[in-house]
Amino acid sequence: MTDPGSLEEKLAILAEGAKYDISCASSGSSRRNRHGIGNAASCGICHSWTADGRCVSLLKILLTNACIYDCAYCINRRSNDTRRVILTPAEVAELTIGFYRRNFIEGLFLSTGVVRNPDYTMELLIEAIRTLRETYRFNGYIHVKVVPGADLLLVERAGRYADRVSVNMELPTREGLALLAPDKSREAIVTPMRRVGALIVQTKAERKVSRTVPPFAPAGQSTQLIVGASGENDLQIVRLSAGLYDRLAMKRVYYSAFVPVNRDNRLPAPVDTPPLLREHRLYQADWLLRYYGFAPDEILDDDRPFLDLTLDPKADWALRHLELFPVEVNRAPYEILLRVPGIGVRSAERIVRARRGGHLALDSLAKLGVVMKRARYFITARGQFAADLSPDAAGLRSRLAERPTRDRWNQPSLFDDHGRGDWRSTITGEL
Ligand code: SF4
Repeated sequence: MTDPGSLEEKLAILAEGAKYDISCASSGSSRRNRHGIGNAASCGICHSWTADGRCVSLLKILLTNACIYDCAYCINRRSNDTRRVILTPAEVAELTIGFYRRNFIEGLFLSTGVVRNPDYTMELLIEAIRTLRETYRFNGYIHVKVVPGADLLLVERAGRYADRVSVNMELPTREGLALLAPDKSREAIVTPMRRVGALIVQTKAERKVSRTVPPFAPAGQSTQLIVGASGENDLQIVRLSAGLYDRLAMKRVYYSAFVPVNRDNRLPAPVDTPPLLREHRLYQADWLLRYYGFAPDEILDDDRPFLDLTLDPKADWALRHLELFPVEVNRAPYEILLRVPGIGVRSAERIVRARRGGHLALDSLAKLGVVMKRARYFITARGQFAADLSPDAAGLRSRLAERPTRDRWNQPSLFDDHGRGDWRSTITGEL
């Protein structure tokens, strides 16, 4: 460890080191304050979305950027010649409470490199969040990273203090992990995930019987997968995510386009921009798994293992199943409405509610949130078809293909021109 430096210096280094972890659904803050420590932009304030759609700002920081491991893709790996600093648990707690009192944040996202060994590091993390909860009586949101390989009792203690815990999987396959993160094992990652998943389910059941049972990670667990650092295809990634949701009670899988921060011949050759569009399509496929009832093999199969970059995956599925369309919105079951391009979860719910009061006409659908420019090829209302013609799959593909006016490799952002109400989909992948 190099010289300790001032708290402000450490904060800047450790917030910088945390920025590659996007599993808190972060986005940069533009709030600046040139005096004192209240500079949200440089000090890792990020935003996270709660299950009810509320945006909360988090102090996103590493406990330390020192690490005994040497993962090829990581800026903090031990072979990088960089200044290493560490915060004490008391400093983490003081910083968090200081930002909180200034009304800059509503919570903490705490990750770390591995110092000495996983258990020692985990104990430091726990001490930081214990201090926040017990000494400062902090009731804000806490998301803490579990160090792979840590004792499961420590994992359980962390989850008693945190709202959300996550173990980053990073590489989707065992082979990718062995090549790029040889110090970690699949078992060291999956074992705590399983334990967290089981404790979440068990604690929820126990708390239904008695509210005196302390909560365990009430906001669930999440993980992050790096996309494009190793050779996995999208089908492997989508199948893995489906398994994590089904078997491990995972709340959210985040996808992070690979950013080459190190020179390493095990990594892909640098490209102009990270695979952000691929990342975006994976978020859309993920949304199909979580909210639209799709199975992974409906989205992709062994003959088409990659998502189409020109078309969203629900439109792609619809084009391969044109025999099912058009569907009559006044009769179609909710599950079928969800499969119509341009009809989302909220518009499908509104259609089902509204049609109880009488048959819906085409011109009432846009008011219910249906994106008619996509849906019109796939629906009828009172037997009426809204499109000017019923094109074949090739014709429809060219009509539905996305032709962004800006550089298509730009990461979709909150302010992209996707139309009213679509802003949320750029973060979540909702279709
Ligand atoms: S264990 Fe984490 S911090 Fe350490 S090198 Fe690997 S990814 Fe980086």
